[in-house]
Amino acid sequence: MNRVKSKYLKGKEKFAIGIDLGGTNIKIALVSKAGAIRNYLKIPTNTQQGKEATITRIKQGIYQIISQSNLETRSISGIGIGAPGPLDFQKGIIHFAPNLPGWEEVPLAEIIKEEFKIAVKVENDANVAAWGEKTFGIAQGVDELVCLTLGTGIGGGLIIGGKIYHGKNNVAGEAGHIVVNKDGPLCNCGNFGCLEAYSSASGIKNRVSRRIKELKISDPSIFYQNNFDQISLVKIFEQAREGNPIVKDIVEEAIEYLGIGITTLVNLLNPEMVVLVGGITNEGDKLLNPVKDIVFHRAMRYHVADLKIVFGKLGEYAGVAGAAALLWDFD
Ligand SMILES: [Zn+2]
Repeated sequence: MNRVKSKYLKGKEKFAIGIDLGGTNIKIALVSKAGAIRNYLKIPTNTQQGKEATITRIKQGIYQIISQSNLETRSISGIGIGAPGPLDFQKGIIHFAPNLPGWEEVPLAEIIKEEFKIAVKVENDANVAAWGEKTFGIAQGVDELVCLTLGTGIGGGLIIGGKIYHGKNNVAGEAGHIVVNKDGPLCNCGNFGCLEAYSSASGIKNRVSRRIKELKISDPSIFYQNNFDQISLVKIFEQAREGNPIVKDIVEEAIEYLGIGITTLVNLLNPEMVVLVGGITNEGDKLLNPVKDIVFHRAMRYHVADLKIVFGKLGEYAGVAGAAALLWDFD
């Protein structure tokens, strides 16, 4: 990062600023149209300080990136923002965001445009991850694509016919809320048995915490990192692999229901590629292989004939890269 001399930046290459607004961190980057991440900044969202403070930090971060780049604002194509939804991508308004308390009907595009006087686009974060992988990552050239963001929750980005699919009210793609078990646990959305309640980081951790309480386990430290600060997904997967009966079935079900959820998406949309991104993908082939087995066994034959199920390639940069890429047409 920051290795590029300003002389080079003033050349013909196009740049946009990409922002990935999350509940924990705000990531901001200057991204070239060729997909290179130049200046990169990660700052805490600090949601507890309120909406205005977060917006101020976003603006400060943009100023910092611009000044580091030695570019003039008008020579930047614009600013793209990936944000938690539901949101109106046409007007750039965030309706509300469960991980950003106090954010209701926030006209984020207008606020940022007012400050910097350049084009601003706001898009759902899972759609942005999908767009990043399609534009610069593992899914280049793929026009029929499902991207699942496997994090605290589970998001879905759908690309159909080479374009982000939004649906009537701009809220399409809620793959985390595919119901996989009618009698399953309560989900954050109010429904029961959603994929997110089984296979997201929070779903798995919640189920393990409940199990620990139910079984009155006196020393659950094997599931924790850093002295009970946080129940740890890595530890849970580790214990499951070692056959620990407290978590083994929970992890097996997380993987199985993920496979079943993807099977539904594959039968419904017949994508060329399913891209999985987010923290759980650190489990590597131990996650990917059983998921593939389930999908290729359960989905309909012609639907899987050309199907690829892969991990994303952009890692933590998928959001900023995809957000910046919203500003350009690629043909
Ligand atoms: Zn749900």
